Amino acid sequence: MEKPSRLVIAVDGPAASGKGTIARALARHYDLPHLDTGMLYRGVALSLFRFGGDPGNVFEARRAVEALEQVDLGDEELRSETIGEIASRVSAYPEVREALFKRQQDFAGQDGGAVLDGRDIGTVIAPDATAKLFVTASPEVRAQRRFKEIEGRGIPVHLEDVLADIRARDERDAGRDSAPLAQAADAVLLDTSAMGVEEAIAKALEAVEAARG
Ligand code: C5P
Repeated sequence: MEKPSRLVIAVDGPAASGKGTIARALARHYDLPHLDTGMLYRGVALSLFRFGGDPGNVFEARRAVEALEQVDLGDEELRSETIGEIASRVSAYPEVREALFKRQQDFAGQDGGAVLDGRDIGTVIAPDATAKLFVTASPEVRAQRRFKEIEGRGIPVHLEDVLADIRARDERDAGRDSAPLAQAADAVLLDTSAMGVEEAIAKALEAVEAARG
């Protein structure tokens, strides 16, 4: 009997590039389960933050992974800039990445496939993905989007601070030794700087269809 075809889609890119929106739209379109892997790292960060752990200490970061089950991955606090910043620091530890590896790989290995978004999906977690997208946008455009999103939540914020945070996060994510943010050689680059949401989703769908073809 022929095996049902699997569709695994890897969506990587820097903070506020639009990769989450694109990944969710693709998951809806293909009726696939979706995992925002950034939430796992944010979950570790929140767990660490709650027990007052030091993000500069790998043992404490590793302990935070052990306590990840106690964090509700739907918690709004996970989306805060403070937690994003801690997530970016603890995610640089190979020990933390290894501890989260199997969970992500199992998700990608489900019958029928899945959509995962993050920084290292196409390079490390699902190197055999059917389709790989690397979604990006200029730091200024990403800062503007993040700024609007934070403002929309009623939190006072300065655009320059958001831009500085984005640049610092990019540098840390791309500069770390362990699974740095990088475009996989076979990923399609999607620069959303000058695109609206609908156009970006349409282009992403086109790329996935071409890869399936
Ligand atoms: O995508 P998001 O901003 O939610 O991710 C938070 C942090 O988690 C990122 O800055 C990055 O350092 C880390 N991360 C990662 N690998 C992933 C997903 C997120 O290192 N696959």
